[in-house]
Amino acid sequence: MSDCIFCKIAAKEVPANFAYEDDDVIAFSDLAPQAPVHILVIPKKHIESLLAVGEEDKKLLSHIMVDVVPQIAREKHIDEKGFRVVINTGDDGGQTVKHLHVHILGDRSMQWPPG
Ligand code: AMP
Repeated sequence: MSDCIFCKIAAKEVPANFAYEDDDVIAFSDLAPQAPVHILVIPKKHIESLLAVGEEDKKLLSHIMVDVVPQIAREKHIDEKGFRVVINTGDDGGQTVKHLHVHILGDRSMQWPPG
């Protein structure tokens, strides 16, 4: 989508500090980190939110959650102590960028419930 900031990052039209890339997925540091490690993992394809994941996207989402997130967690050395994975969805969920993204937060102790 032409006016989507994450599509522009995926297309390398907007700079980012990249942490991972393959044919379908890219990951980069959050601009306003909420933890010492704060990485966003996104599909390169524009998917508006978790609610817009179609049948054809299920393998992609599984790849992100099962392969990419653990790989990044290991590379950032937050796998042993633990980390948090968040997908904000919709307005009440706190989603501000309407391109599906998975937050990886780590290297500090997390609180529950979240704010
Ligand atoms: P959410 O509130 O779940 O939609 O998360 C959107 C996240 O994107 C926020 O944590 C922002 O700090 C982050 N963000 C917005 N623009 C950029 C950008 N250009 N580069 C990196 N992170 C960004």
